[in-house]
Amino acid sequence: MCRSADLDRALCYDGSAKTLNWACFSAVREAIGRGSEMARCEEGYLCEVCGQDVEDIAQSDLYLRYVIGLVDPEVLHTARERHIRCNPTLAQFIVDPEFEPVCVTGPFDKRTLDPAYVRQREILVTRGWQRLRELRGKEVSLLDYPLPEVRAAWQVRAL
Ligand SMILES: [Zn+2]
Repeated sequence: MCRSADLDRALCYDGSAKTLNWACFSAVREAIGRGSEMARCEEGYLCEVCGQDVEDIAQSDLYLRYVIGLVDPEVLHTARERHIRCNPTLAQFIVDPEFEPVCVTGPFDKRTLDPAYVRQREILVTRGWQRLRELRGKEVSLLDYPLPEVRAAWQVRAL
């Protein structure tokens, strides 16, 4: 990761946190929120669809997309937050007994899509969601959140 040092600085400029993780990230956003960028960062906590707080990393659509490689670390701190369930076109691919299934009606309904694509997507998105649950309350660097293949792809890209 060529820009990991920048990311560390950007998120932990106050030097208070040892590792970048969900708690640290929230704390830093809070710190930023008290400054000049208050409006934007306060909104950063809230789901842009339903307006409610995204309280838990395992509810976060932003972090789900991050761990499966759809969001780059550089844009994490500026991207808008959403609940996983408030983004049904992605949430429908989570297949886990612990996750109440989400159904989509309309053109993105997985029942109308190519089964091979759907299967592939289900495996990836479900693993991403399980990874989020695994990360809850853990001291893991933000850069180590994503699935191994996502981190490996970053390595290749940085070369
Ligand atoms: Zn929501």
